[in-house]
Amino acid sequence: MKRNIAVIRGDGIGPEIVNQALRVLDRVARLYGHEFTYTDVDMGGCAIDKWGDPLPEEMLQRCVSSDSVLLGAVGGPRWNEVPGPMRPEKGLLRLRAGMGVYSNNRPAKIWPQLAAASPLKPEIVDKGIDFLIVRELIGGIYFGNHDTVTENGEKVAIDTLRYSESEIRRIGRIGFETARKRRRQLCSVEKSNVLDSSRLWKKIMHELAEEYPDVTLSDMLVDNCAMQIVKDPSQFDVIVTENMFGDILSDEASMITGSIGMIPSSSLGQTTCGLYEPIHGSAPDIAGKDIANPIGTILSAAMMLRYSFDLPKEADAVEAAVSATLDAGWRTADIYDGENGKKTGCAEMGDRILENLG
Ligand code: NAD
Repeated sequence: MKRNIAVIRGDGIGPEIVNQALRVLDRVARLYGHEFTYTDVDMGGCAIDKWGDPLPEEMLQRCVSSDSVLLGAVGGPRWNEVPGPMRPEKGLLRLRAGMGVYSNNRPAKIWPQLAAASPLKPEIVDKGIDFLIVRELIGGIYFGNHDTVTENGEKVAIDTLRYSESEIRRIGRIGFETARKRRRQLCSVEKSNVLDSSRLWKKIMHELAEEYPDVTLSDMLVDNCAMQIVKDPSQFDVIVTENMFGDILSDEASMITGSIGMIPSSSLGQTTCGLYEPIHGSAPDIAGKDIANPIGTILSAAMMLRYSFDLPKEADAVEAAVSATLDAGWRTADIYDGENGKKTGCAEMGDRILENLG
């Protein structure tokens, strides 16, 4: 398979962690007979310094015309004074809009080797936590009309929550397709006992279910889901939900897994060209010290292999190599408990994962 990947190293620890992920992709290509080529893209603070724009149009076009995009992180205190529309994070928003990605997918997985870092009780963690939240990204209350008016002498703030059938259907399909590539269990989360938008959501999900007879669909109210994620997260495979519910639940889910440096994410739209990035930021406090954890980025590359390139065997191999490296006790500073295991740096963690990949 030949694929061109747009690579955004970005700012802070971005270049360090992305370099490790590229070494892993190169090894996968060599082992499995693929050809991955990389196109460098400037985005964020480094693009402001070089081009005076966090995402020049030409850079966006490089992403849109690639087969997928791998991103480290952008931003940092150096660009805090830059005016609003030119801030590093605006580059990311323009990239998401330009790529038309409307679905953000975040796995919540506990690595048994790091189970002690989870704030949940061992008996809950021991049942195994490995699920993924598919969140609608560009609709709902965050994108509805916002207004503040004065009524009867006091201010009244109004935020509008709207979803169309087509918006629900396209994110629903991502939920079903994702479940198909996992354990085929999809839980649709809404608030249909109160909200019209949720009742429409539920209706569309059940219509879609007829097209995916191999996937088992269940429904859950969002308040119950928030409880179940801490009570018995082992019950979930894939959760699909609207923008604001997904925002809150995916942060809750990332907390129960322990370290922010371990968690990958993908954003997908109509095409297979996705945006893959770790969920953390540019960590300026540790940039340039070779101590950042590259695993979230390496697992983002594994998600790219699985979800954009349809290479599940290769994705499994990368995840197994990460697991074997943790089994062998290798820990970057953020996941080192001070006693157990062997403390290592960003590049050496990459070396160890490559060794285990073969
Ligand atoms: P952050 O995620 O960068 O860092 C929070 C804490 O986690 C820090 O102590 C950091 O050292 C640690 N950390 C993060 N990633 C790590 C890793 N891979 N290994 C080890 N430790 C890690 O969040 P922040 O400090 O709030 O933000 C820093 C900058 O990143 C800001 O400019 C922010 O706007 C930007 N940001 C960018 C993105 C993105 O590019 N997608 C996302 C969030 C924040």
